[in-house]
Amino acid sequence: MVAFESGTNTGDALAFEHSPETDQHFENALAKARDGTRLTVADAIELLTTGSGTDGIDRERKEQVLEAADHRRAELVGREVTFVANLNNNVTTACNTGCLFCNFKDRSDQFLESSDADHDGFTKTPTQSREIVADAVERGIYEVTSVSGLHPAFALDDDHREILEASDRGDLNYRSPSAYEVDPGTYVEQIEAMSVDGVHVHSMTPEEAAHARRGTAWSYEEVYRRLADAGLDSAPGTAAEILVDEVRDVICPGKIDSDGWLEAMEAAATVGLDITATIMYGHVENEAHRAIHLDRVRELQDRTDAITEFIPLSFVHQNTPLYDYGMVEGGPTVQEDELMIAVSRLFLDNVDHIQASWVKYGDQQGLKLLNSGADDFMGTILSEEITKRAGGGFGEYRSFDQYVELIESIGRIPVERSTDYRTRRRIDGDPPHGPTLGPKADGTPLIE
Ligand code: SF4
Repeated sequence: MVAFESGTNTGDALAFEHSPETDQHFENALAKARDGTRLTVADAIELLTTGSGTDGIDRERKEQVLEAADHRRAELVGREVTFVANLNNNVTTACNTGCLFCNFKDRSDQFLESSDADHDGFTKTPTQSREIVADAVERGIYEVTSVSGLHPAFALDDDHREILEASDRGDLNYRSPSAYEVDPGTYVEQIEAMSVDGVHVHSMTPEEAAHARRGTAWSYEEVYRRLADAGLDSAPGTAAEILVDEVRDVICPGKIDSDGWLEAMEAAATVGLDITATIMYGHVENEAHRAIHLDRVRELQDRTDAITEFIPLSFVHQNTPLYDYGMVEGGPTVQEDELMIAVSRLFLDNVDHIQASWVKYGDQQGLKLLNSGADDFMGTILSEEITKRAGGGFGEYRSFDQYVELIESIGRIPVERSTDYRTRRRIDGDPPHGPTLGPKADGTPLIE
């Protein structure tokens, strides 16, 4: 565990081994970025800091980095801006992991039948999940995304439940579902329930996969294969946070380490699932950690070729323990957001799509990011609890008409996509616009 001395967002007060200093020069790194030479970690640090030898971000240099990234985006994926018709169906907020950047979770003992605690968390049964997804499929979604807290009653399947019930280990974060007001079922039951009419199921982060094998000797491959058999189509790489253990030890000591995350993602790819990757930045880490993270993701993609998109997630500090305890004073600056997107595009030469999340950045800044290296504008998100509960204020749903208007306002081409980007449809003609790629989508807007 790294010692923390309060009062900074930069990690200066933390005894980190990695610091954002290099022998490289900004101009050299920029020249390499412009001509498409594979960048090193030192290059990335120079670009993220606009020169590690000077204080603060140099505006002129920053614009040069953004321009290089925008140019690379245009070369690689052209003018199209993609988005997917999706639903977020998060199953439960019950979680004891205690990540300091998270306000999505609620301590699970509040969910016990015996508890009279007043909380606004939730758990859904598989039947409830199915109803919610079935309704959204009828409306026309292509994908359901599901990321949940690590509810102690969750087991992978009935075999796993038996193992957990029989165990006398006290360190497995397990409790029988009968102790809770609502039984979330097993992961397999939830995936089967959400797999309605062939809708794409995007779920089971590495952290959830680790929870789904706790107390067993099962490999991640066995877990993801079982989930794929139940209807899982792809796995989100959220829970990556920062893939450097000295940062994870501060912000999420209860989570699997960097190698565990990489092992799980590689296993998902091995059983044939597409995966995504994220970075959550702008809390206690520094630019060296961001650059190392990008390097680890690029190496993973070299090995798997299964990462469909990279998603930089700007830390939303309100209502999080990191902020409440005074460990950070806020999230990243707008300049840091822009550079994170741009350097992701320039560094990840083997990942085609970089996403700007309108939930995290808002519309205006999201559009700027689409001109700084990003080419994907996320999804419609019929319901989005995670960002709202952490204090994000950018709404919960984006209609196709809103998408078309925003994307065309910057002279780009709106394109509805499948989760894996392999199916795409350019949107033109007069509104109203609606999805056409989902199992029951017929062009009618998702919400009238
Ligand atoms: S980030 Fe996930 S694992 Fe960590 S506390 Fe929040 S819900 Fe739990």
